[in-house]
Amino acid sequence: MFAQVIVDIVHERVAHTFTYLVPPEWESWLRPGWRVRVPFGSRQMEGIVVSLGGESDVPPEKLKPLLSVLEDYPAVLPPLLDLARHMAEETHAPLAETLRLMLPAQMRGGRVKVKTEPSARLLRPVTEEEKQQGRSRKRQLLLTLLSGGEVHPVSELAELVRDPMPALRQLRDQGLVELGELEVLRRPRSFGGDAAREDPPLTDEQREALEHMLPEVKQGRGRFLLFGVTGSGKTEVFIRLVRHCLAEGRGAVILVPEIALTPQMVDWFRARFGQEAAVLHSRLSPGERFDEWRRIRRGDARVVIGARSAVFAPMENPGIIIVDEEHESTYLSDRHPRYDARDIAAWRCEREGAGLVLASATPSILSFARMQQGRYRLVELSRRVFDRPMPQVQVVDMRAELNRGNRTVFSDALRNALQGCMRRGEQAMLLMNHRGYHSFVSCRSCGQAVKCPNCDVSMTYHVGQRGVSLHCHYCGVTQPVPETCPNCGSRAIRYFGVGTQKIEEELRRLFPDTGIVRMDVDTTGGKEGHAKLLNEFRSGRARLLVGTQMIAKGHDFPQVTLVGVVAAEMTLNLPDYRARERTFQLLTQVAGRAGRGEKPGQVIIQTYKPEDEVILAAARQDYRAFFAAELARRRASFYPPFSVMARLLVESPSEAEARRRAEALHGQVQALLETHPDWRRRVLLCSLDRPGVQLLRGHARWHVLLKLAASREAEALCGALADLAAEESPPEVDTYFEYNPVTMM
Ligand code: ADP
Ligand code: ZN
Ligand code: ZN
Repeated sequence: MFAQVIVDIVHERVAHTFTYLVPPEWESWLRPGWRVRVPFGSRQMEGIVVSLGGESDVPPEKLKPLLSVLEDYPAVLPPLLDLARHMAEETHAPLAETLRLMLPAQMRGGRVKVKTEPSARLLRPVTEEEKQQGRSRKRQLLLTLLSGGEVHPVSELAELVRDPMPALRQLRDQGLVELGELEVLRRPRSFGGDAAREDPPLTDEQREALEHMLPEVKQGRGRFLLFGVTGSGKTEVFIRLVRHCLAEGRGAVILVPEIALTPQMVDWFRARFGQEAAVLHSRLSPGERFDEWRRIRRGDARVVIGARSAVFAPMENPGIIIVDEEHESTYLSDRHPRYDARDIAAWRCEREGAGLVLASATPSILSFARMQQGRYRLVELSRRVFDRPMPQVQVVDMRAELNRGNRTVFSDALRNALQGCMRRGEQAMLLMNHRGYHSFVSCRSCGQAVKCPNCDVSMTYHVGQRGVSLHCHYCGVTQPVPETCPNCGSRAIRYFGVGTQKIEEELRRLFPDTGIVRMDVDTTGGKEGHAKLLNEFRSGRARLLVGTQMIAKGHDFPQVTLVGVVAAEMTLNLPDYRARERTFQLLTQVAGRAGRGEKPGQVIIQTYKPEDEVILAAARQDYRAFFAAELARRRASFYPPFSVMARLLVESPSEAEARRRAEALHGQVQALLETHPDWRRRVLLCSLDRPGVQLLRGHARWHVLLKLAASREAEALCGALADLAAEESPPEVDTYFEYNPVTMM
């Protein structure tokens, strides 16, 4: 028997395999997916068996045998191996790269570190006489504790017997006890919530939703879009679906946008499922990740909650995959190989006969359109639990405030509402989707904003412990605030726009005795930065929470009765065809944080564009109106889902090189289209251009942007584009192929 092996998946970008001989005694059990050690030239390397067969193109006498297996189980399960193949084909990535997604980093690096602790085990039953020997109380107690015959960690024994090691060594020397090392699994810390352990009775709507979904999930073919308004209790529906899968002996995967931002979800699942629940996300230490991965692989944890990459969880026989807040862009990976976790989830469900649930209060345009085409069934939760009212939303025209002479960041309406809320002892949240103090600094004489030396974006004014400075939010560069304009030398430097820091300062002035938490990239560093701040607010020690879009996601704070949006049009003006969708989602989601407890909620949206239909639809929390208008707009201007956006992005420290490469690529694309008239017919736009951000981290950027009518031909053309990008670029030039990229900037 011969094995095809992908060697060294860490360093190589190889797609091809090497052939090895399978030792005859392995033939009965070796299957694709096992990790093996193989001879490679004069060295040994790690690899993954991707297929087995009775034939080989290479004469057998030239082949070497596999040396050993790395684990006593296949590391990559068959469906996931198929998935890696499928992704390699789909994204034109080498198989080594897609296989990498299926393994925790520690396993890929070849340095698998298993954590152990000292342990003891009784080797044979002891008589009463032997126990009494030497009259030592310690000895007696230890032998009694060990009498069951199981392996006990020494740390556990030490809780009952002080300093047990000397006595244990004695027992070992007498041949009664074996000392060893017991493997311990590192478990991520709980976030300190106090979630209920019992399932509450369901509301009528929740029960109906469940009754709709369960029969089809059981048959492994349910494909659902769960469209439930904010506060309608979607999580409880997930929990029941998961329970049913467990009862049938199957597992469940629940994807959330970002674990750090949704510690509550993890707490809820841990409280209900205990040891059955495993957590996978990027903020775990490599050891924790590895151990959680193995708990899932061994079947010890059959409920997985995790961010995007948890869609590759090594679970045998998942019964359901749930994607919560499915509209979030975090489900699109921004690294190669690029993938959309929702599509991967759908693929896995198809392959493994599991149910799929995409859930959101603001479904993505793409998913809602697919639902209308019949790819998903719609299940709605149209009311909040216990018929709690949806929050009342008021839109405030900031131009009118300015005309009345109010130059502060808060409108009279928002300031009054905040004061009322604080007086009543309740909590409020303020959304400001720009961090820093002032959003930019510019010159009054020449109108130039101070830009980052490495990036084509204006720098943000921050106030830090060591004074003020300018920061670039793209590359992280910091520099002092110039006293004169770098462009014209004028001293008329002015500060414009506000950021979270400025809002926080205003709040401290208005409410000097109230606890205030600011949550943005600058305050949430470290492994548990988010959890600490969220706990501060949840506990009530802080009653005001100000932050960027981070605060809008999924949180359930029952004491919040007021939500304020400081500048609603902020995200509307981004040069991206999804800017309107993002804005609607952000405003609706943040509004949905108000009034989730017993007291009703109020929302105030401040904006300089009060007549904008996106803002108005969000204020009414009218998803369907927004969807209809947005779909019509996209149809009219051929944006996805009516088309496919693709680009070849070129980056280089040299502007000339970037431009030359992009021009060459543009020429190659044109030539491709000349030779493929069927492809050309699908092209709505093919332009050589500079992206929204022309300079990033010191690299000049150019792109060849294509808009294609969605079709089989467009898919084929994208394949050819990916191949172009994969060709070797000149030195110092990087070329990327992007398919419906997360951003066009
Ligand atoms: P959504 O995700 O739909 O916005 P959540 O799942 O966060 O809503 O639920 C909103 C709130 O309602 C939570 O505090 C949750 O504990 C509570 N809740 C949901 N379902 C029930 C129920 N059947 N009984 C009691 N409380 C519930
Ligand atoms: Zn100037
Ligand atoms: Zn920069």
